[in-house]
Amino acid sequence: MEVDEGPDPLTNKKQITVTRPLLPELAELTPLLERIWESGRLTNGGQFHAELEQQLCDYLGVSHLSLFTNGTLALVTALQALRIRGEVITTPYSFVATSHALLWNKLRPVFVDIEPETFNLDPAQIEAAITPETTAILPVHCYGVPANIDEIQRVADIYGLKVIYDAAHAFGVRHRGQSLLEAGDLSVLSFHATKVFNTFEGGALVCPDAKTKQRVDYLKNFGFADEVTVVAPGINGKMNEFQAAVGLLQLARIDEAIADRRRLYHRYQRLVSGLDGLELMPEPDGTDWNYAYCPLLVGPGFPVTRDALYDRFRQQDILVRRYFYPLITDFPMYRQARQLPLPNARAMSERILCLPLYPGLSDGDFERVSAVLQAAAGRG
Ligand SMILES: *Cc1c(COP(=O)(O)O)cnc(C)c1O
Repeated sequence: MEVDEGPDPLTNKKQITVTRPLLPELAELTPLLERIWESGRLTNGGQFHAELEQQLCDYLGVSHLSLFTNGTLALVTALQALRIRGEVITTPYSFVATSHALLWNKLRPVFVDIEPETFNLDPAQIEAAITPETTAILPVHCYGVPANIDEIQRVADIYGLKVIYDAAHAFGVRHRGQSLLEAGDLSVLSFHATKVFNTFEGGALVCPDAKTKQRVDYLKNFGFADEVTVVAPGINGKMNEFQAAVGLLQLARIDEAIADRRRLYHRYQRLVSGLDGLELMPEPDGTDWNYAYCPLLVGPGFPVTRDALYDRFRQQDILVRRYFYPLITDFPMYRQARQLPLPNARAMSERILCLPLYPGLSDGDFERVSAVLQAAAGRG
């Protein structure tokens, strides 16, 4: 099933977006909706909620997971579940929800630079940012590329810090034969429409054991432990039955969707390897990657600047995105936050352009993207 935005009335060209959501077949969704209607149970842990938690644990290769209505509330809850206090070391090169989750918990973000090769928090910089107030590290597996989990854990263990991974991009990523989502103390997934796997809106918290999942389950339901017992000032973060039903249908198609993404990524690799001054992020080593994004770096050797290239795409109704620009530290509510020098994050944010990558991107659309790159490179 495809959503058709229709042609732009000015240019008569169909818009190409940077991501496009997987959608279940309506015919497959109807019987599941009928079961929700029959049960009369719309949320608060119905049949599909239980089923999706189980199927996701099996698919992702994790032992415990708690579904959420979106990834941001899962992040906010993860910090609550581990009772994080004071300062948290994190990356400026991410979607702003990563740091917002800290502010919602009255925590102080401390920003540390990234490694230019992986776009992820540089473990070698973390130590210099630690103070007696530091209690946790909040790294991101940016673009689904694994952060340096061994080195981050090594530093965390020395200083007794918790590690919470924002794994919003890392659905299904396996690293050295294991689920990446088991790294650290907790990992947070997002199932937003723009992500590899979606439930329209949604998310999950991957927990190491049943006890932690129990606590998280209380926290996402106002803190209710039973009908008359409230154990914490919890939030309403529950995933509803409609979202869970959508998730079950998407999960049946996810391997196919990731295989499509892989093929497209390789096509982009062949295209970009012939264009001087452009560089596609290489596939991560030792990793079954999910091809969540298609990060292109526009170097000084390219005839056109990153922003000029961005404008050229826009003129052709190709809505490429600068993930991540601006840096989080450039938003007003973070300008006063403590930060170490961020030369790599800044350089990457000024060179990055994410190309359209989603299952079902047509040959014709690929050719349109390709034509803009070739023309900017002075070809064709
Ligand atoms: C999408 C995203 C989130 C937020 O997830 P939602 O489900 O949209 O709330 C958090 N962090 C990162 C890195 C993301 O890309």
